[in-house]
Amino acid sequence: MAADRLKKNGVYDQVVKAFGKRKFVEFGGIEPNPRFETCLKAVALAKKKKVDFLLSVGGGSVLDATKFIAAAIRFRGKDPWDILRTMGGCVKAAVPLGAILTLPATGSEMNCFSVISREKTQEKLHFGSPKVFPQFSILDPEATYSLPRAQVRNGIVDAFAHVMEQYMTRDNRTHLQDRQAEAILKTLVDDADKILAERPDYDSRATWMWCCTQALNGTIACGCVEDWSTHMIGHELTAFFGIDHGQSLAVVMPAVWKHQKQHKKAKLAQYARRVWHVTSGSIDEQADAAIDKTIAFFNSIGMPTRLDAYRITGADIHKVVDRFAERGTVLGENQNITSKEIEQILRLCL
Ligand code: ZN
Repeated sequence: MAADRLKKNGVYDQVVKAFGKRKFVEFGGIEPNPRFETCLKAVALAKKKKVDFLLSVGGGSVLDATKFIAAAIRFRGKDPWDILRTMGGCVKAAVPLGAILTLPATGSEMNCFSVISREKTQEKLHFGSPKVFPQFSILDPEATYSLPRAQVRNGIVDAFAHVMEQYMTRDNRTHLQDRQAEAILKTLVDDADKILAERPDYDSRATWMWCCTQALNGTIACGCVEDWSTHMIGHELTAFFGIDHGQSLAVVMPAVWKHQKQHKKAKLAQYARRVWHVTSGSIDEQADAAIDKTIAFFNSIGMPTRLDAYRITGADIHKVVDRFAERGTVLGENQNITSKEIEQILRLCL
C-alpha cells in the first residue's frame, strides 16, 4: 500500500508506537499485484539486517508479498521463483510473520496462500505453505475509511468470487458449508451499497472485512470440490493487460458459468433461490437468473462485466489462450476446461 495512505489514515503512527523500543527496518513500495522483482529487494534487505519477524502493514498485496519474502529469506535453492513454480512445495521454512490489514479483499490474513507476479515474463503465479500462515492478523475497520471507492468495489467482488470458486461447482452434500457460503454472498449483496457509501460507517466496514476473511479461510471449502477457473483466467488478464484483480473476476466469472452451465446448473439454481429469492421457473431458468442477477449486481456497484470496458478485444485473447496451451493447463471442478474452452470462455467476455 502507498505509504502516504498509511500515514494519512494513522496506521503508520499506530504501528510505530506499538513497536515501542523494538528495532525495526521499513520496506515500502510493494505494488498491487506484488512483483517478484520488488520482493527480492526486500529479501536482500532482510538478510542484510538479519530480520527475524516480518510485519505486513497494508492490503492483500503487501501481505502476499510478505509471505513470499518470508519463504524466500529462508529458501536454500538457487532461484526463489521455484517457490512459485512448485506452488510452495519446496518451502521448508519461513520467517514468522504478522499482518495489519488495511484493505480487505484477498482473505490472505487467515490463510497460507500468496500470489506473486513477475514483470519480466508477465507471469502471475500462486503458492501456499503452512509455514507462511500469519501468526496474527489485526483487522481494524477504521483503517479502510480512506480507501478509494474503486478499491472497495474490487474488494467486494474479490470476496464474492472467492466464495464462488468454492461454492459454484456441484452438489457436494455439504449442507452447512453451502449455507455458510450463501450467508457471505447474501451479506455482500445486501450491504454492498453501505460498504461503498461515501461516508463509511464502522459496522458496514467491519462486516465487509469479516466477509472477506471468512470467504477464504478454508471453512466453506471443507469437503467441497473447488473450481478456481475464474481466478486462473483472471490472473492472466491482469498479467497481460494490467486490469485489477477484482475487475478481471467480474468479467470472467459470469462467462465461466455460462460456458459450464450444464455442469453447474443445480448449484446456480440453488444460489438463485437462496441468495436472490428466485422462486419460479425450471432449474435451467433459475440458473440463467443466477447469472443475470450476478451481472446486474456487479454492474449496480459500478463494476463492468465485459472486456470491452478495458478495451481488450478478440484480437488480444490469443496471448492468454496460447499461454494456457503452452502450460497444458486443465481447469475446473470437472477438469474439462483446457485452452480450447478458455478461448470460448474469453469470447463470451467480449
Ligand atoms: Zn481473488
